[in-house]
Amino acid sequence: MAAGETELTGERDGVVGSLSVGTSNRAIGLRADMDALDILEENEFEHRSTIDGKMHACGHDGHTAMLLCAARYLAETRDFNGTVHFIFQPAEENVAGGRVMVEEGLFELFPVEAVYGMHNTPGLPIGQFAMQTGPSMAAADMFFIEITGKGSHGAHPHQGLDPIVTGAEVVMAFQRIVGRTVNPMDAAVVSVTQFHAGRAMNVIPETVEIKGTCRAHLPEVQDRIEARMEQILKGVCEAHGLTYTLRYERRYPPLINTADEIEKAARAAIAVVGAENVDTNLAPTMGAEDFAWMLQDLPGCYIRVGNGEGEDGGCVVHNPNYDFNDDAIVYGASYWATLVEQEFAVDG
Ligand SMILES: [Zn+2]
Ligand SMILES: [Zn+2]
Repeated sequence: MAAGETELTGERDGVVGSLSVGTSNRAIGLRADMDALDILEENEFEHRSTIDGKMHACGHDGHTAMLLCAARYLAETRDFNGTVHFIFQPAEENVAGGRVMVEEGLFELFPVEAVYGMHNTPGLPIGQFAMQTGPSMAAADMFFIEITGKGSHGAHPHQGLDPIVTGAEVVMAFQRIVGRTVNPMDAAVVSVTQFHAGRAMNVIPETVEIKGTCRAHLPEVQDRIEARMEQILKGVCEAHGLTYTLRYERRYPPLINTADEIEKAARAAIAVVGAENVDTNLAPTMGAEDFAWMLQDLPGCYIRVGNGEGEDGGCVVHNPNYDFNDDAIVYGASYWATLVEQEFAVDG
């Protein structure tokens, strides 16, 4: 669950396994991510990472194990009528391996009527599932701005065009995009995360670089934010006689769960752990997830499986002390297998 600036690595290492049973020509896709993070693991236990600086700190190794378990079980029991494509996706963290798989023809090679994903959640008890219909995770956009003025002596600002003061004004004006132009009922974030300018104490620089990220659950809110950003930049820079460039990149689309597939996911989860352990009203987050690329043109959903509290309660994803809880595997694998057996019921 991430978006940022990282070199493309390993985004073409995807693997798909297909299992067809019976005569039905219906097919669904089940997706697990399988990449790790550039984190030096601090855990001391036996199953800690054997590669310094690489760590499964988001539990994707657990996701892979759950889907492999389900594939093995379904291949042995063969108690369904249809085709399942088991999609093992690389490079979820930062580099959008999901987008690469889709762009390179994943669903032309393996057509499906719906695609399902799942992620572990530390803090959600083992043996519990959580999900929601509609927006689940946010679109992640990145912006890169350069404002150009005219450098001058710090003692003689009137001889230049100060990009720092103008840049500061732009940053402050951006704070009004969400607060004053986005419907308060629609979630959105505009965060300036970098502001670079100047090298000397007595020099007003020529340029300022401003970077950051925007998050939104609805495409129309993304459009609104991008348009307002340009409008503010143009207005503020023109008012002070400076110029600017803006590059606005849409990195991840919003992840939107379709109602029918959430209903099916909930039915499968309830069959595994009972209704009291399935929350169908999970609050959405502003994080991003590249499974959203697979849901762009297909129905489907992405749900959460409990990873428990961790030994000291401090187990969170992307932390050097994160630990995927193996007790979750049986629940995740059972959910996958049940989803398939319910969806492709032999007598259905
Ligand atoms: Zn992650
Ligand atoms: Zn993850």
